[in-house]
Amino acid sequence: MITLQTNIADNLRQVRERIANAAIRAGRKPEDVTLVAVSKTKPIEAVRAALAAGQTVFGENRVQEAAEKFPLPGATLHLIGGLQTNKARDAVRIADVIETLDRPRLAEAITAAMAKEGRYPSLLIEVNAGGEAQKSGVPRDDADAFIADCKARFGDGLLGLMCIPPHDEDPRPHFTWLADRAARHGLKVVSMGMSADYEIAIECGATLVRVGTAIFGGRS
Ligand SMILES: *Cc1c(COP(=O)(O)O)cnc(C)c1O
Repeated sequence: MITLQTNIADNLRQVRERIANAAIRAGRKPEDVTLVAVSKTKPIEAVRAALAAGQTVFGENRVQEAAEKFPLPGATLHLIGGLQTNKARDAVRIADVIETLDRPRLAEAITAAMAKEGRYPSLLIEVNAGGEAQKSGVPRDDADAFIADCKARFGDGLLGLMCIPPHDEDPRPHFTWLADRAARHGLKVVSMGMSADYEIAIECGATLVRVGTAIFGGRS
C-alpha cells in the first residue's frame, strides 16, 4: 500500500527535480525558484506529510481554512486567494506573505490591520494579466500606478508581482509581461506557474511557483 506520506514525498521529489531542470534549461539557478506547496482543500495530515518531506512553504486560498492549519512550526504560509477587505485582519494575523494585494481599498485595510496586529507580512501585487472580467487582480493598465503607490506605502514589504493567466491561452506572453513589469519596478519576486505550467513559468522568470495538484493530488 502506498501511504499518504510516501506519495506526497515522491511527488515533491519529482516536482523539485522538474523545477531544478527547468531553471537550468533557462540558465538560472534552481535555488532561485521557491516552491509554494498549495494545500487548499487538503487535510492537515497532507501538510504534515509535506513538511516531513522537507517542504516548508505552503499556499492557501481561503483565510478561514488556512487558520485551521496554520501557523504550523517550521512552515511559512502564503495566502494566494482573492482577499476580501473584511478578512484583511485575519490574513495579516496568520500570513507570512499575502500574494493577492490588488486594489487601493485592500492596501488601506492591510495597512490598518498591520498597525493593529503589529505583524507585517510581505506582499505581492496580483495583476489580472489576461484582463478577465471575473478574475481578481489589478488591471494591467493600472498596474504601474498601483505598484508605485504600494511601494510608497509598504516600502520593502512589497516583494513583487503575481498572476494567474487565462486557462485557455498560451501563458507565455502573460508570464513574460509579468516578469518584465517586476524588473522595471525593481521587484525581485515573480509568482507565477501552477501544476500545468510551472516549468514554462520558470523559463519566463518565475521566482515562486504555486503547485497544488502535482504534489497533493486532485481536488474534488
Ligand atoms: C489552486 C491554486 C494553485 C495551484 O493549482 P494547481 O493547478 O493545483 O497546481 C496555484 N495558485 C493559485 C492562486 C491557486 O488558487
